[in-house]
Amino acid sequence: MLLTPDAPLQPHKGEHTPAPYDGRERKRLVLLLIFVLSWLSTAVAWLLMESRGISSPTLRGVFGANIVFHPVMFALVYWRRLPERVVDVSCLLFAAGICAACMVLRLYFPAYGASIDLEPLYLWIPVIYVFAFTVAGHKSSLAISLGILALFFVISLPYLVHSPTERLGNFTIQLHMVSAVLIAALYFFSSYQHRLQLAQLTMDELATLSHTDELTRLPNRRRIAQVVSYELLRFARHGRGFALVMIDIDHFKDVNDQFGHRVGDQALKALAVRAGETLRDGDTLGRWGGEEFVIVLPEAGLDEALHKAQALCAHVVAAPLINDQLISISCGVTRVVSADTAESLFHRADMALYAAKQHGRNRAESMAVA
Ligand code: GH3
Ligand code: MG
Ligand code: MG
Repeated sequence: MLLTPDAPLQPHKGEHTPAPYDGRERKRLVLLLIFVLSWLSTAVAWLLMESRGISSPTLRGVFGANIVFHPVMFALVYWRRLPERVVDVSCLLFAAGICAACMVLRLYFPAYGASIDLEPLYLWIPVIYVFAFTVAGHKSSLAISLGILALFFVISLPYLVHSPTERLGNFTIQLHMVSAVLIAALYFFSSYQHRLQLAQLTMDELATLSHTDELTRLPNRRRIAQVVSYELLRFARHGRGFALVMIDIDHFKDVNDQFGHRVGDQALKALAVRAGETLRDGDTLGRWGGEEFVIVLPEAGLDEALHKAQALCAHVVAAPLINDQLISISCGVTRVVSADTAESLFHRADMALYAAKQHGRNRAESMAVA
């Protein structure tokens, strides 16, 4: 992975989590807009029909239902009175219900349905299927769409049986065929999209796993190495230095011997939590391996880092970590200099840690470049 200061790798404690993209709020606003536009277009169409004298009681019923439905839904969505899923399903059922009612009137009740134009009505039905595929997962959407298709098919079946060669019959058969093809295409695209989303999730999970220590859930050695590379680049380009603290638990073999490896593991987890309590935003604590941890302290001077490490030693030993057992740590501290590589930096931190062990443990030592 190429790291540049312009594409920062965010460290653990101050790990930047981008504000979740608020797709729901956007969808709500889009819905409100749709309700307003639908209401306006219905009102204009109704007015035009009335002014041209081509309206009818049936059309008035259809327009009237729309004129009432949209403001009611607008209010319910605006004041968040209905769950998102209920709003979606209500709109879907309303649209399907209006189309089904119009179809019944047009095919079987000429006295009421003669004024209903079948062409525009049949244009709306595919829109319902498209809408159905936006309200649920691809399998549920398929079931909903097939249910609606079955409804229209059942409604038209008696008519098709009795007058199959009529223009309306042909037209209706075409509608069902186009609907079936459209539903198949929508299902294909939405299941493809579903698979893409799954793949993206898996990739995100893998990326997280590859940077996370399984036991402590801290950044692992690979992640720490990336953070250090990034800080070295920042130092080279912008002169922003950083300090490194190497931590090693004192006499950890004895903990394992006395309490067993499983308790030892719990102590490692508890130490990860305890050490994390002393960090500021932007600091990175990670597990370097075994019972060794590393802290990267951006912009910290050597003395400041040494004080922090001493405070950390005191904080860790202040209360038992596990099984009423006081566990201490030793820290080696160093700060980056211009000739540093990751290896030279870690080497110095290791030497400082060795000095801390030599000087009696439960302490921090620093090592500057001679
Ligand atoms: P010192 O004070 O000199 O550091 O003594 P120490 O006993 O801690 O010695 P050292 O650091 O060399 O020993 C590391 C021990 O940590 C050896 C190993 O049994 C234990 N250890 C390493 N990784 C793990 C782990 O993942 N879980 C457990 N429970 N123990 C581990
Ligand atoms: Mg060790
Ligand atoms: Mg040790």
